[in-house]
Amino acid sequence: MRTKIVAGNWKMNKTFEEAEDLITDIIELLDEQGKPEHVDAILCPPYVFLEMAGDITADYPVFIGAQNVSQYESGAYTGEISAAMLRSMHIDFCIIGHSERRKYFHESDEMLLDKVKMAHKENLVPIFCCGEVLQDREVSRHFEVVKQQLENTVFKLSAEDFNTLIIAYEPVWAIGTGITATPEQAQEMHFFIRDLIARKFGAEAAAEKTILYGGSCNGKNATELFAMPDVDGGLIGGASLTAEEFVQIVHAAGAGA
Ligand code: PEP
Repeated sequence: MRTKIVAGNWKMNKTFEEAEDLITDIIELLDEQGKPEHVDAILCPPYVFLEMAGDITADYPVFIGAQNVSQYESGAYTGEISAAMLRSMHIDFCIIGHSERRKYFHESDEMLLDKVKMAHKENLVPIFCCGEVLQDREVSRHFEVVKQQLENTVFKLSAEDFNTLIIAYEPVWAIGTGITATPEQAQEMHFFIRDLIARKFGAEAAAEKTILYGGSCNGKNATELFAMPDVDGGLIGGASLTAEEFVQIVHAAGAGA
């Protein structure tokens, strides 16, 4: 059975105290309501809150992830955070290739592949994002674009390394817009991605790969999205900033398990 995952991408939100409150509220709710057994919950706060997040969640079944990682190993790269630094803080996951990083920080496929390799070197599990912009979808190029993004990056990995990553399909037109892909649109793309994986790495690798959906997923629409056979949970932006809603989404993933 594939692992279901709900990961909260907090982006550049929350002060230290607000972050502390949110994490505390999330673990309290999960404690009260119980976390579905087959669902992993991952919180990805800003770098500066990772240590605090790790401390608060130490005794709870919640993982902590970073939102990014440097493509460089160490040295004169002011402002960067290396995979080894994250590993030394017991971080298990990192988001790589989010569309905001691709767009605002000009992260190319080549850089993203380097980041994935750095993450693997330190045993971090990348949550690798892919997804088309609206213009691509309007001219029916969305499948081609996603295929290219994967072929230029994670499909260049060995089968063993490819096994150790999560894919997040995030149509850019749905991120932070309040417009969600329909469950059918999500399923169609997830099925397509799984089929690409099967052709490249074999049927078993494809069957085992966790593929998350991201893009205006919330407490209301998560159940329908996660009911799709190839949607294995979500990468959640805005809705992960509210404890009740995030936990509701975790439960929605449990219901689809
Ligand atoms: C994201 O940024 O990964 C995301 C899915 O954002 P939102 O849920 O706010 O659309």
